[in-house]
Amino acid sequence: MSEPLFHVDPELVRRFDRPGPRYTSYPTAVEFHEGVGPDDYLAHLRRAGERGADEPLSLYVHIPFCRKHCSYCGCHVIATPRHDVAAAYLGDLEREVTLAAEPLGERRSVVQMHWGGGTPTYLEPDELAQLHEHVAARFRFAPGAEMAIEVDPRVTSRAQLETLARLGFNRLSMGVQDFTPEVQLAIGRGQTFEETRDLVQAARDVGFGEGINLDFVYGLPMQTEASFRANLDRLIELRPDRIALYSFAYVPWIRPNQKRIDATTLPQRDDKMALYLSALTALVGAGYEPIGMDHFALPSDELARAARAGRLDRNFMGYTVKPASTMVAFGVSGIGEVEGAFFQNERKLSTWRAALDAGKLPIQRGYRLDEDDRIRQWVIRQLMCNFSVSKAEAGERFGIDFESYFAPALAALDEERAAGFVEEDAGRLAVTPGGRLFVRNVCMAFDRYLEAKRQSNRPVFSRTV
Ligand code: SF4
Repeated sequence: MSEPLFHVDPELVRRFDRPGPRYTSYPTAVEFHEGVGPDDYLAHLRRAGERGADEPLSLYVHIPFCRKHCSYCGCHVIATPRHDVAAAYLGDLEREVTLAAEPLGERRSVVQMHWGGGTPTYLEPDELAQLHEHVAARFRFAPGAEMAIEVDPRVTSRAQLETLARLGFNRLSMGVQDFTPEVQLAIGRGQTFEETRDLVQAARDVGFGEGINLDFVYGLPMQTEASFRANLDRLIELRPDRIALYSFAYVPWIRPNQKRIDATTLPQRDDKMALYLSALTALVGAGYEPIGMDHFALPSDELARAARAGRLDRNFMGYTVKPASTMVAFGVSGIGEVEGAFFQNERKLSTWRAALDAGKLPIQRGYRLDEDDRIRQWVIRQLMCNFSVSKAEAGERFGIDFESYFAPALAALDEERAAGFVEEDAGRLAVTPGGRLFVRNVCMAFDRYLEAKRQSNRPVFSRTV
């Protein structure tokens, strides 16, 4: 392995390592409140239905179950070895799909569906098929629709992969995080390299030829630069089409399972940055293109093509190439976006089920975007996806003069400008190649809610590095 090609001044890393959102949504879920509920959701679904039969939809299905709760996990998970709990959940999920589809009327064309968790392959092959058939009976998958599912190499069988391929799934996202046994032990996962390698091979054998994504995380306990580089060699050997390389979000105040991690074994700021830079060097050297904030893709992959064409979009599932203005979410804690508002389902299984028993959409909270939110949401998405925002396009879309509307935000970027992270002319504001690592910091200048969070002095977000 060669020496890192990419360097970042440690002083800049120290200065810009601040708590901040990852902007899978703007406003972030921290702003959601219970003033938005099931009746609002019903009205918004009806409005979405009035847009016409062929307007595209995106669906998210949450399967929260895992056999054990990994100590680093940041997802909404129900850890149980009792399979009957999942079987009962399926029935409830089907009731929710039926209930939410009805107000959409004729509008049922799906361009993207994602099953996430938890561990969707906690479900047996016949259960995967049953759930998919229930969805497919109520929605139409558009030609070329992206159908993605998260799979855990420790529990996923060839029979499950065969079932998924037969049902039309065309993208698999495998959680790996790190191949090193000591790191696997420290994160309470215990997944071997061989398990991942064999599942990648089995996926290719059953037809997932160009749809394999591996998730890695840097900043985990016990990771060292040397161990991480060895990881990268093995990762490149497997040659997945896409790689997600996330910064570990250490938020024990939100995720108590992370209290099981010995904080003294976490790589500190400079070491964490060195892990990221060695990954960037290795993956770019192996022919991967960096995409957005935390993804890499082979040049032939659709994500890389969309990034080159400035067509990337971002939603709760991360970067996507199939933008749909409406995202309908199913399952406990699922978050959707419908007609200018976010809606989140009940996060407790019993409450989610009780709402369905009462024949109600199981919404716990949400957020209605106002015009200012919509403008800032668009700007932040442009920056997160394309590292650039056109002032003229902002003007055309929203009838604003970008420079006067965002004068305070542009002034707040002085530090980033001085550090060489942003450049600006009369036509656009752009994040420089050297500033891409700090794109969250740039977006934070456009976030009108952050100041209040800073003043509350309560930890809310993970750190940007
Ligand atoms: S990291 Fe994945 S497998 Fe582990 S508990 Fe979280 S969702 Fe489940």
